[in-house]
Amino acid sequence: MDNRQRARESRPATDERQRARDSRPVMDERQRARDSRPAMDERQRARERRRREEMIARRKRIRRLKLAIAAVLILLIGLAVWFGVTMFRKTRGGAGGITPADPKNTPAVSVINETSAPEDSGSDGQEGTQDASPDSQDAQGEGADQQETSAAPAASADLMSQARTLAAGYDYDGAIALLSQSEMTEEMRQAVSEWESAKSSCVAVDVSTVPHIFFHSLINDDRAFDVNTLGADRVRQNNAAMTTTVEFDRMIEDMYEAGYVMVSLDDMCVKTTGADGLVHVERNTSLMLPPDKKPFVLSIDDLSYYHSYGIGTQGYATKMVVDENGKPKCVYTDENGNTTVGDYDVVPRMDTFIEQHPDFAYHGARGTVAMTGYNGVFGYRTNNYYKDINDPHLDPDQILWLQEHPDFDWEQDCRDAKAVADAMKAEGWTFASHTYGHLNATSSDLDRLMNDHERWKTVNSPILGDVDKIIFAFGADIGGVGGYTADNAKFQYFKGQGFNIFCNVDGNIGWTEFGDTFMRTGRVALDGFTMYQAMTDSAAAHTIYANDYEKLGIHDVASFFNQYRPTPIDSE
Ligand SMILES: [Zn+2]
Repeated sequence: MDNRQRARESRPATDERQRARDSRPVMDERQRARDSRPAMDERQRARERRRREEMIARRKRIRRLKLAIAAVLILLIGLAVWFGVTMFRKTRGGAGGITPADPKNTPAVSVINETSAPEDSGSDGQEGTQDASPDSQDAQGEGADQQETSAAPAASADLMSQARTLAAGYDYDGAIALLSQSEMTEEMRQAVSEWESAKSSCVAVDVSTVPHIFFHSLINDDRAFDVNTLGADRVRQNNAAMTTTVEFDRMIEDMYEAGYVMVSLDDMCVKTTGADGLVHVERNTSLMLPPDKKPFVLSIDDLSYYHSYGIGTQGYATKMVVDENGKPKCVYTDENGNTTVGDYDVVPRMDTFIEQHPDFAYHGARGTVAMTGYNGVFGYRTNNYYKDINDPHLDPDQILWLQEHPDFDWEQDCRDAKAVADAMKAEGWTFASHTYGHLNATSSDLDRLMNDHERWKTVNSPILGDVDKIIFAFGADIGGVGGYTADNAKFQYFKGQGFNIFCNVDGNIGWTEFGDTFMRTGRVALDGFTMYQAMTDSAAAHTIYANDYEKLGIHDVASFFNQYRPTPIDSE
């Protein structure tokens, strides 16, 4: 196997971890069950309340920005139009609040119920938005009145706030260009000069050493680790390959504190189409960050809420939805059967964190999501095999699910999934193939990979669009170290299918390779297996992962490692 060979030849340390990866079970095994978890504690509820208040304040600010733009128009068009807009604004004002949860299930979108907020969200939330506008007051009637007399200052304050957010994400040119649209106030001139100086102090990062981390779907409660209800095999998979929301939050906070900034895979390279029609891929030598900041890349695997995830019984979200603000969120059913919409997985959790800490994302970058197709995407059963319960391709899990969901409407699921994909793209997320059937691309022959990819395009392209990235399932790559060669038939096939960026799994964090027509990066999972290895001196792969976590600035893993996880976690 090329990957192992590479590891053996050039990176002895990688070998055991690669072996562990290769033996990682496909996440489509069947299991289901239910159980209990400790209730959310009081502190968490307080944080949640605070977060809700902040979210409301944020929404108000967004509304005020829209208002200010309207106000400028109003000055031009006249009082009559202004009156109309005010009425519109007042009508809208009532809509953004929090409505009670639908306890039944499948809400179109009912509640924003964030579970655990970052511990310091109270203060950071304020700082993160860097909102200089005097708008913490009421955004409804009073705000509208203010437009009448002081539309220009209000507009400039909102412009300023918007520009500050851009600058916080290191988009200094964008921020300056935005302010240049209006007559500059003294405050603006000062900000522009600060940003020009910040920009000139930035340095180009070495994109070939950018750490690439990844997660699977997050676990929201401890049912995931209950052997009595789930059985040892399912718990082993939840335990090894998964991360809880609490663990995730601690890791992200630590990385933020350490100065990490999310960049995208596309930020790392420059793609140009040559005269030969081939897409050539070069390293980006002008990815600029302040000297105290460090780039990282994020990916998420298998965002499908497979049947094997228990559909509401193992602590995972059950599907993604688009909320009333157009944001991608998750539906989650807790151990008491209560279903709410909120930040129950990596995508909305990361979006919320970046909203509060815009300096955590370079130009608003987000991660790449690796998608299979066999169980559908985002919890929607969009694989066309589900259209007919007698389809011979369906496995027992799928048939059982169809029997339990007699109202299933395949077209509707496709529409809902497409809406989620579009909302994610709007936030900056990108998609990758993870193969349709979660294939091992190392051991599968070319024919199988080709048929599989045809299936991927059939079921996923209409929803996710075209992709130029492939994130290999099991980390099982199609070529060894030294690049994909011209005689590599699998590479030639995937390149011909439009793929430019290839990702495997590699415990040596920050490994990236550039060929003439591809970029390839190795990824490290921040999951139960690697956490356990990092925090346990006697564990076989301790040195590798202790080093990885240390490099990421994630300290004292044992302090947040979920106490219900069975140990040891020696393989995935
Ligand atoms: Zn996978």
